[in-house]
Amino acid sequence: YCANEPNSIVSDACVSYATLEKLNTDLRPSIQYLTENVDFFTFYRLDLYGRECPFWSDDEGFCGNRACAVDIADEKDIPESWRSSELGKLTGPRASQPSTSVQKEEPSPFRGKLGEDTAESCVFEPNEIDKRDYCVPEDESGGSNCVYVSLVDNPERFTGYAGKSANNVWRAVYQENCFNTNAQKSSPMNNSPLGGPAAAGLKNVVMGRRKHEVVQQDLIAPPPEEQCLEKRVFYRVLSGMHASISMHLCYDFLNQTTGQWGPNLQCYKERLHNHPDRIQNMYFNYAILLRAVAKLRNNLKSYTFCSGDKRTDETTRKKIIQLSESIASRPSVFDESIMFRDEDAVVLKEDFRNRFRNVSRLMDCVGCDKCRLWGKIQTAGYGTAMKVLFEYDETAENGANPPLRRTELVALVNTLGRLSKSLHAFTVFSNMIEKERVLEE
Ligand code: FAD
Repeated sequence: YCANEPNSIVSDACVSYATLEKLNTDLRPSIQYLTENVDFFTFYRLDLYGRECPFWSDDEGFCGNRACAVDIADEKDIPESWRSSELGKLTGPRASQPSTSVQKEEPSPFRGKLGEDTAESCVFEPNEIDKRDYCVPEDESGGSNCVYVSLVDNPERFTGYAGKSANNVWRAVYQENCFNTNAQKSSPMNNSPLGGPAAAGLKNVVMGRRKHEVVQQDLIAPPPEEQCLEKRVFYRVLSGMHASISMHLCYDFLNQTTGQWGPNLQCYKERLHNHPDRIQNMYFNYAILLRAVAKLRNNLKSYTFCSGDKRTDETTRKKIIQLSESIASRPSVFDESIMFRDEDAVVLKEDFRNRFRNVSRLMDCVGCDKCRLWGKIQTAGYGTAMKVLFEYDETAENGANPPLRRTELVALVNTLGRLSKSLHAFTVFSNMIEKERVLEE
């Protein structure tokens, strides 16, 4: 642990920018392939419109820009075993990852029909919260509000969503970082939409207010260095996620005069370049996500992918295992074993988990569909990474660890994809700034 080492850039992980950039150059083609070409990872099923914001009512925060809209996938483009009509047919006990022998074999992709031998985990995903979950799960099991979305057709980029609605969500997200040493005594999430003293503070600030009553004020400051590692990690994850979202909207920005999409240097300078800590946190998140994907390599060997075609599933498995093993073959960039070791670790972890679940619930308060989509995916991705880091035994056979829902694995890999692109965009913007400097000289 070397948080105070002057040369460590990703301080809690003791890794430099250069190391992570080199890693990203090597891994990016494989991450891009998975997130752009492999059906398992390009389609996400979620309840995008049906869940109301559990914390406040903000009818006017809705973003009506075309760029805020999401194109819903046509069910006929979805592998049959994932379709809602099929998903609705089966319910049952908590799915576990079954052996591959119970999967059906079909000669070509997307022709599968649900047969009696279809693995239940192909069609049913538990949506109740497991005590080891760091996120409120997306209900894949066929709620009528669920839609399939192609993540390739709905890129995360500038939407124009801004103002009080966006600011309220970000403020509430950072409010979750207000840990209190006694916060563990708070009621569990299921009893209260916002657990803990900090959450009670948030209720005072936001809940029950009408939109126009929400006061504009600075967001919560980062925790001081003397705060325990876990609390600093929590803040860095939130800030790094925010930074990555800002990076995407600046990198894929709509020039409203020309109608062209492209990098907006001024946007980058204001939101990120002038705040190096935010960029640092984004790199930190990349390190966390890499470690989580590497840690899954044994589990992935027996994971059920369920496209309806065994060959497609095997290709998917091969590609994700290749990525996972490639990361694992290099020096580790994040050491989760140093976290949650003190005597109050159990209660601290529970508090950490409950707070992150709150953050995931806050995504239902985002007034722009496209931003909500990517906000949900990324909170689910970080939640999955934490579940893998803090709840998984790396050496255990699949089955001994908590089950990994399809939505969780898809979110994890796509969140890694977002960060990988953000690191790439950082290099592009840095080059633009350097060019500008040379021209000015
Ligand atoms: P904001 O980004 O709203 O930030 C508010 C305040 O937070 C800042 O003033 C600063 O004090 C602090 N802050 C900013 N960045 C950080 C950081 N990294 N770490 C710590 N503190 C920080 N807009 C899009 O165009 N496309 C999207 O895909 C998109 N997705 C979104 C997803 C979510 C979940 C949310 C809540 C908003 C999203 N938005 C998106 C809106 C976008 O994030 C901004 O809120 C909006 O552009 C307004 O920006 P702003 O300048 O007011 O600052």
